[in-house]
Amino acid sequence: MVLQLYVHFPFCKAKCFYCDFCSHPAGQEEMLRYCAALEKEILSAGKKWIGAEVSTVFIGGGTPSLVPEEGMERVLRAMKSSFAFRPDVEFTSEANPGTLRENWLELMQRYGMNRLSLGVQAAQDALLKRIGRIHTFAEARQAVEMARRSGIRNLNMDLMFGLPGQSAGEWRETLDAACHMEPEHISAYSLILEENTRLFDMVERGQISVPDDDAAAEMYSLAREVLTAKGYSQYEISNYAREGKRCRHNVGYWQGAYYLGLGVNAHGMMPPAREEDARWIRLANVEDTGEYIRRMEAGEDACALREAIGEEEAMFETMMLGLRMNDGVQSSLFTGRFGRAMEQVWPDELESLVRDGLGMWTGGGFRLTDKGLLMQNEALLRLMK
Ligand code: SF4
Repeated sequence: MVLQLYVHFPFCKAKCFYCDFCSHPAGQEEMLRYCAALEKEILSAGKKWIGAEVSTVFIGGGTPSLVPEEGMERVLRAMKSSFAFRPDVEFTSEANPGTLRENWLELMQRYGMNRLSLGVQAAQDALLKRIGRIHTFAEARQAVEMARRSGIRNLNMDLMFGLPGQSAGEWRETLDAACHMEPEHISAYSLILEENTRLFDMVERGQISVPDDDAAAEMYSLAREVLTAKGYSQYEISNYAREGKRCRHNVGYWQGAYYLGLGVNAHGMMPPAREEDARWIRLANVEDTGEYIRRMEAGEDACALREAIGEEEAMFETMMLGLRMNDGVQSSLFTGRFGRAMEQVWPDELESLVRDGLGMWTGGGFRLTDKGLLMQNEALLRLMK
């Protein structure tokens, strides 16, 4: 069996104002205890999924570059000894400017990291400050230089638009500045105002405002225009890559690869046990870091949710994830997985998407049009039974 690994580190220096991810500030001692707990989970997962081959690894957070080398090495060593990595493994770690260190980069690459994803977000320090980022743009540039010097040849930059008070001109400046640094991959995300975040409260109280939907849609179009002109091709609503540099890990998620999530609040999608009547098993670990550490130290299971995904739901998931990509869902993938063609499952619905200009048949499958990509929820609702 081939699978992808996701490993979560829930630590950040400070909480960004828009963030609702599982992350929080922590001291060295807590980070080291967490690493020891994670090591235990990895060793036990390796015994459970013995013989599995790993095609991609993604170390995310939080801020993995904040984790002390001593703890990180325990985790990396456990991964290497528990799983067989494919020779062409794509091994990504997230990192944040302002926390990146040469020693950390050296350690990660010694254990196989070959792709770095940096949270740059914006080129204007005032904007970075307004959303609670801990770094300046100059620090982001220094982080890129440090990564390149250390030998990283596959670099992603995360950028954000729709930020409070952000103008189209500033967004363009960010895109230009990012392209100037020549990363192999750029993710351009629209800010999503999540409840229970500081930014949400600030907007609710009228202390700050964010660009409206029309302005955000213009920024999305601007990203497409600028990035395409600079040689990046869009392969998913928020993702752009140079030739051959798509993020294989994320493409795997969207194409229904098996993945195993390790660490607090990590999620997975794995095959069912032989006797189970299910297509996939969705897994999720406990959401609280203290509880995760406690369970691991007590020799208990970190899993808090185990849900069987039946045929119907798996077919819908295949469309929901696959249609995020510009290539859409390949007919051969769908038929190979379910023994039925998409047009047999949703004959009227797919036809209505084509009729309304939201979807189209390609040589090998079905995809959403540009209009459909912007109205994904509407398009997917039609496929819900
Ligand atoms: S660095 Fe990332 S994970 Fe950490 S608080 Fe900011 S957005 Fe959230």
